[in-house]
Amino acid sequence: MKFDIVTIFPKMVEGPLAEGIVARAIAKGLLDIRVHDLRDFTTDRHRVVDDVPFGGGPGMVLKPEPLFAAVEAIVAQRAQRGVEGGRAIVLTSPDGEPLTHGVATRLSALDHVVILCGRYEGVDERVRTHLATEAISIGDYVVSGGELPALVIVDAVARLVPGVVGDESSVAGDTFAREGLLDFPQYTRPAEFRGLGVPPVLLSGHHAEIEKWRRQQAIERTRRHRPDLLNTEKERTS
Ligand code: SAH
Repeated sequence: MKFDIVTIFPKMVEGPLAEGIVARAIAKGLLDIRVHDLRDFTTDRHRVVDDVPFGGGPGMVLKPEPLFAAVEAIVAQRAQRGVEGGRAIVLTSPDGEPLTHGVATRLSALDHVVILCGRYEGVDERVRTHLATEAISIGDYVVSGGELPALVIVDAVARLVPGVVGDESSVAGDTFAREGLLDFPQYTRPAEFRGLGVPPVLLSGHHAEIEKWRRQQAIERTRRHRPDLLNTEKERTS
């Protein structure tokens, strides 16, 4: 699967991609992730990517020309090597579609995802209406730029690409993947730590009982911490 990330701070993105599961998947050739400096797609001497907002107000807005040029160059580059299957051009934006397991699953079925990182007050609206195919938000709060959201999107999507996480049953059992429930509590050695024990069933070696306990815990946790998930599950199946 191919990702292209367009940002004015490439180093902010490259560091996290060089560690852990995503880095291993890149080394294995399962993911091809390229990071592009938006300034490389400017045509003026000062490599300007932003300008003041029409209508006034504080801050700066990312100009449309470099973003359009970047996406056109990326699409052309990728086309040379052949991109089969779907492509999404994702604008990171706090007013986008909330990133969920469902959204990540949908993106993981695509061949190519381009992610545009906003900065400052945001991005010229024409990028959203005429360049991006969708906008995604990582939650109801504002961060300073699209770089962290882009990394969150890449990581969440990459985990769902077959082979990226070594043990696929691990992904299938994760929170949200498992029937839309939160994960059950996990324990590891020692069995007693500062007087705190571990639920005896986990030490019993009785697999059916352990499975039953875990499922009960997952349901109970979801009911307590995220009852909204149980409701959406009901809506989906009714
Ligand atoms: N003025 C804007 C916020 C701009 S923050 C507003 O009030 O909506 C600058 C950039 O950070 C955004 O263009 C977007 O790319 C990114 N960003 C900030 N919060 C985000 C979020 N919750 N999800 C996705 N991207 C976000």
